Amino acid sequence: LDANVVPIPNKNSDGTDVIVLLYDITEIKRLEKIKSDFVANASHELKTPVTALKGFSETLLEGAKDDPDLLQQFLEIMYTESSRLDILIRDILQLSKLEQNQELITLEPFDLGQTITSIFKTMKPLANKKKIQMRLKAPANQLIMNSNKSRVQQILINLITNALAYSKKSGIVEVAIYLEQNEQVVIEVTDDGIGIPADELPRIFERFYRVDKARSRNSGGTGLGLSIVKYLVESFQGEIDVESQLGIGTTFRVKLPLN
Ligand code: ADP
Repeated sequence: LDANVVPIPNKNSDGTDVIVLLYDITEIKRLEKIKSDFVANASHELKTPVTALKGFSETLLEGAKDDPDLLQQFLEIMYTESSRLDILIRDILQLSKLEQNQELITLEPFDLGQTITSIFKTMKPLANKKKIQMRLKAPANQLIMNSNKSRVQQILINLITNALAYSKKSGIVEVAIYLEQNEQVVIEVTDDGIGIPADELPRIFERFYRVDKARSRNSGGTGLGLSIVKYLVESFQGEIDVESQLGIGTTFRVKLPLN
């Protein structure tokens, strides 16, 4: 018997026992809906870059390729669209891999501060483009986690990428890490960017949900980053919450077990 089945003991008229099984299918239906919504949304998202690629390549083949300016312009668009497709497929595959729960999660000790510093290094070109300062606030002593390094890295990369994408020019992105009760690591990623309207906050962890579709697309977003983060955080039995003020900035706070 699983959680959706409620056995109700009863008696037949001859006194023998009867068990009536009531199936609560609301949860099953809810999960089915999430799945079918996902397929519909994913197909829609995939269709956009494919349509653009098809349209521009057709126009080139029909003669636009003979105009060097058009050729250059269309090829640039096609390159951007195929990159978008690439990232989208990567995110969709990652989510489905996570959901199938087939990955072996290995644990290893690593220094969280150092991990963040190396992520900052890889993101420096992106930050420099917008003249954004990246800061790390960490305790004086090393903060050694015994966890799955690549999952923790992925959480950080997705949150810092968003902080950079939704920041204003010359802003500040700060990552603060500290220990809580010697057993939980708290990671806060704060930006002084555009913020998120209060009524949209509960929805941002949904797959493909974007506050501003156009803006997210332009910054290379797929609308899947935060749903992946949420999944990863929950895989550690951790917690994630967000505070935001429109036009002032956003803080994502993640709590993960130290070990
Ligand atoms: P995306 O790929 O669009 O960034 P995410 O799942 O990472 O998708 O985020 C969902 C939406 O939440 C984004 O489209 C954006 O509207 C909003 N969002 C996420 N992080 C931030 C942030 N730091 N500041 C403002 N808005 C954010």
